[in-house]
Amino acid sequence: MERLVAAQAGDGGGEAPRAAVRRPGEDGDGSRDGSRDGGGGGRRRIPRTDVLLRDPRLEAAARRLGAGLVKAAVRQAQERARAGRIAPEEVADAAAALLPRTAGGLRPVINATGVLLHTNLGRAPLSAAARQAVQDAAGPTDVELDLRTGVRARRGRTALRALRDRVPSAAAAHVVNNGAAALVLAATALAAGREIVISRGEMVEIGDGFRLPDLLVSTGARLREVGTTNRTTAADYAAALGPDTAFVLKVHPSNFRITGFTRSAGVAELAALDVPVVVDIGSGLLAPHPRLPDEPDAETQLRAGAALVTASGDKLLGGPQCGLLLGEEDLVRRLARHPLARALRVDKLTLAALEATLTGPDTPTAAALAADPEQLMRRAGRLAADLGADGIDVRAVPSEATVGGGGAPGVALPSAALSLPEPYAARLRTGATPVVGRLEAGRCLLDLRAVPPEDDERLAGAVRSAAGR
Ligand SMILES: *Cc1c(COP(=O)(O)O)cnc(C)c1O
Repeated sequence: MERLVAAQAGDGGGEAPRAAVRRPGEDGDGSRDGSRDGGGGGRRRIPRTDVLLRDPRLEAAARRLGAGLVKAAVRQAQERARAGRIAPEEVADAAAALLPRTAGGLRPVINATGVLLHTNLGRAPLSAAARQAVQDAAGPTDVELDLRTGVRARRGRTALRALRDRVPSAAAAHVVNNGAAALVLAATALAAGREIVISRGEMVEIGDGFRLPDLLVSTGARLREVGTTNRTTAADYAAALGPDTAFVLKVHPSNFRITGFTRSAGVAELAALDVPVVVDIGSGLLAPHPRLPDEPDAETQLRAGAALVTASGDKLLGGPQCGLLLGEEDLVRRLARHPLARALRVDKLTLAALEATLTGPDTPTAAALAADPEQLMRRAGRLAADLGADGIDVRAVPSEATVGGGGAPGVALPSAALSLPEPYAARLRTGATPVVGRLEAGRCLLDLRAVPPEDDERLAGAVRSAAGR
């Protein structure tokens, strides 16, 4: 029976025999659809998968996205027809409409949260130059080959040179997967079985339950805690040094602030001790930033005497996720030659994006930091006027943005936002161009500081769609 109907419904193609041996209830590719109710009705007329896959739109999509995603869309459309929500003739159109735009599950979104480096939104957005570099490096590339001589060359050498050019006090540089990996590599290569001296005020949880002390101990190093939560002096460090000391670690409290009766020892003071000073600056600032005077930068720390600086590439540096290691030549070489370095190495796409970030024009993160609040307010005013003319309940309001992502805690960046009724938040998130804002006092705020001006039209379009205009 099943075989008969399947053969009837099909066109004699290769799928009918397979449909015939499929067990009842098996979740197949849908080619048995219509075979179950031999008694007629809409269900029998639901087009078979193999027929649908010959639709030119779906054929083209299969070349672009892969057969799996297209079949999934087809199955969903058939399901809708089976449930009586669409007519059998509409299945092909529905499947075409259900196709994902890209093969990846990650959707581009507009970051209107007012948090410049939003961890849940992938931290720093790449510059146009970095995106292009990723595209260029995606195929075969000379990442480890000298094209002139035809022999193997140092992996990522041009990116490393660009990094050293930006941080003149770094004799050497190495790049790993992220800031945490940079710390793990330093602790493993320099301190396994030995002691890392660290202030109790710098035992930081970096987010999602991950704590730097646990990370360091996981390498086999021991922590020698000194001082107190609010006060640690250079003498505290000095008293803790011994034959087992591998290095002194300074960690920038990048996501919290302790104020009041506080004291900490600076790198210059600690550099006078007889052990290397490793500084985890967190944010990846390479040089001082005028707007962020309390945020440490790599060049200043190295000049003050740090032997090694570690940082993230996708925070204030505005590049791809990676971990930077900058410092003395022999130390960096030891890290780069350690077996663990192979497990933490970055791919060519990261190296390409990092180099373009370092040599290219201002990053979107830098532009967002530098944005003038009055200009932001003018943009908000223009957008609000346009959208208001369409009958949308929207106002331009002053707002406060933050750096986020483990940088510049407590720094408020004056900004401007579109204020919309709260229900817009969910509609904007789930629209064709997802926009993520923030809720404040019962309103949905779309903060413009992290939105590049060239995205204003797309933002307005998304608001119109959310309003049903
Ligand atoms: C963010 C941060 C880290 C972790 O860096 P990832 O790149 O997220 O691995 C480590 N230390 C400090 C001080 C940080 O701010």
